[in-house]
Amino acid sequence: MSWEENVRRVEPYVAGEQPKIQDVIKLNTNECPYPPSPKMKEVLEKMDYGKLRLYPDMDAKKLVDVLADYYHVKPEQVFVGVGSDDVLAMAFMTFFNGDRQILFPDITYSFYDVWAQLFRIPYKVCALDGDFCIKKEDYLTPNGGIVIPNPNAPTGVLEDVDFFEEIIAANPDSVVIVDEAYVDFGGVSTIPLICKYDNLLVVQTFSKSRAMAGARIGFAIGDEKLIRYLKDVKFSYNSYTMNTPVIEMGAAAVLDDAYFKEIVGKIVKTREWTKEQLKRLGFSFADSKANFLFVSHKKASAKDIFLALKANNIYVRHWDKKRISNYLRISIGTDEQMEKLVSFLEDYLK
Ligand code: PMP
Repeated sequence: MSWEENVRRVEPYVAGEQPKIQDVIKLNTNECPYPPSPKMKEVLEKMDYGKLRLYPDMDAKKLVDVLADYYHVKPEQVFVGVGSDDVLAMAFMTFFNGDRQILFPDITYSFYDVWAQLFRIPYKVCALDGDFCIKKEDYLTPNGGIVIPNPNAPTGVLEDVDFFEEIIAANPDSVVIVDEAYVDFGGVSTIPLICKYDNLLVVQTFSKSRAMAGARIGFAIGDEKLIRYLKDVKFSYNSYTMNTPVIEMGAAAVLDDAYFKEIVGKIVKTREWTKEQLKRLGFSFADSKANFLFVSHKKASAKDIFLALKANNIYVRHWDKKRISNYLRISIGTDEQMEKLVSFLEDYLK
């Protein structure tokens, strides 16, 4: 008997590379190419540093209240955490605690199967169809819970609210998590459905559309009872996760709605321009409504393009995985960055 027999063994999630060198065009982790709201600077300048002596507000009330107001829900229907990864991990631990398999797509956010393994949750993946669309009927069968991103990642494919309502209504005995990390780039949120369904948990993040990946803020909105259960687990694990400056900065970001709309609008415009250019160069892709495109080329191999781009300091994401090994996920950067990408690809494909 060795101590190693008692080890919880997991195959960890592999995040996109964070290059240590300067001057790269970084289109590999769906970050926002613009800085966060300038209001952030004011918050930091005005902050009373003496406050750091004290533990943060474990209810993060300031941020929760602002989010509740923004999304027209009650503060009791809001849960916040250290990025949506933290919120999702807590939700998996809280709601997927039965013997039945949870369901999620085969091509999706690659953290889901990692959490399922970590928390020993039985799971089944449901294959997307040939156009990378979710087959709704797969989620109308008995299950122990459901988690689906909308738009899906890394495909960028968006489904409408009715599509989700049918799944949520058909599964009153399990919690359905809709991961809306990318919904602000052209989707419609399922948040209003929380008043009708107590089994819906909607998860969003400040990492993409609010340009705050480095601050680590995510949140969930759901029925009060769901949120209470989520808090019970969180406060049994680590109460003080969100720090005082970040709580203040998050609230200021939500209040600066004009800036949020401005940067999201710019990204959507650049995305649509990039689609036209990549189509012209012979790439094909599903019509992404996220801040990235998931593309493949009929002649050039994705892996070769990935390596050639990297050698030229342009980072995109490639997975050596079944069904998607000939695809690249390209985050939308500034106009200038996307022009450089397109111009490189133009030369490369000649
Ligand atoms: N959900 C999806 C679908 C994502 O792509 C990501 C980003 N990797 C996350 C959740 C987590 O983002 P964060 O923890 O930065 O909020």
